[in-house]
Amino acid sequence: MSIINIAVDGPAGAGKSSISKAVAKKLGYIYVDTGALYRTIGLNALRLGLDTKNAEDVTKTLESVKVELIFINGEQRVFLGNEDVSEAIRTPEASMAASNVSAIPAVREFLFDLQRDIAKKNSCLMDGRDIGTVVLPDAQIKIFMTASANERAMRRYKELVKKGMEVEFDKVLLELIERDYNDSHRKIAPLKPAEDSIIIDTSGLSLDSSVDLVLKTVKEKLINEKL
Ligand code: C5P
Repeated sequence: MSIINIAVDGPAGAGKSSISKAVAKKLGYIYVDTGALYRTIGLNALRLGLDTKNAEDVTKTLESVKVELIFINGEQRVFLGNEDVSEAIRTPEASMAASNVSAIPAVREFLFDLQRDIAKKNSCLMDGRDIGTVVLPDAQIKIFMTASANERAMRRYKELVKKGMEVEFDKVLLELIERDYNDSHRKIAPLKPAEDSIIIDTSGLSLDSSVDLVLKTVKEKLINEKL
């Protein structure tokens, strides 16, 4: 069977990860969350007490940092050295740090091969911001997933509250808008739909309906294009 790569891009909180994870499971593909890589570089810089916007300082950390994605029963875990940081990278501070370090060209370059290698060896749904445009421009299927900022912020807010974090909705919304702006206005690999991507808006859709919609879209494409 040939290897199928599905690129899923879109802004923060569009439901990319939960939807992609469920779709990948149904297809028997692995799900790759590339945001975890940027978060890990950001977390490392935060722990070193660096300003995550300082390109020179963050670039220096790349000389010694070891980031690895490991798939356990199809489930992705991200390692910083020997430490599994899969949970530690999910804080609002790590989100902002990820957005900051992701604008640094050396960071994107550093993570490029790692992402490409996984896709070369595995059928996968890879989610990020520049997967269809830069990392996997030859992906057979490209999806750009979006939803209104308010709805995305509400989903993120509920996720954080569920984890027991004390957060305010307005702050989550403002941070999300700031991250969207950073991600879509940076010079290198800005967030934008690939020309050949299928746009899916999940506003007002439940997780199950979104999964069904993406699965239907993918299956149609696989059949129509005899992939
Ligand atoms: O997807 P997630 O919200 O975990 O991503 C965290 C941050 O990492 C994003 O705001 C974005 O700045 C950056 N990112 C990126 N390119 C990717 C994935 C994530 O620039 N492929």
